[in-house]
Amino acid sequence: MNRPSKAEPLLMQCTVCHGKPVGCTACKQTGFSVLTDCPLERITADTHFAVQLADLVEKAGWPKAGGALDQTSQFLEAAQQVWYENAHWKADANSK
Ligand SMILES: [Zn+2]
Repeated sequence: MNRPSKAEPLLMQCTVCHGKPVGCTACKQTGFSVLTDCPLERITADTHFAVQLADLVEKAGWPKAGGALDQTSQFLEAAQQVWYENAHWKADANSK
């Protein structure tokens, strides 16, 4: 795959409305995010860390004693977003 550019942008399903854009301001009701640069350049250290933690939880369970009740709401939301995106892209890859 070539690096996205302004001339050849990459269209990805909107991660806020998941392609159902009624009223979505994130994608201006298109259902897509338009990328004109490398998607990896948009991943912050916090996001990368959340992806690593979600992967660990999926494979080894919640860290320490109390499971989900001991996790911050931000991490629970981040983990759910990561799992949704992973499932979406795995399904997309399997449909090809
Ligand atoms: Zn949207």
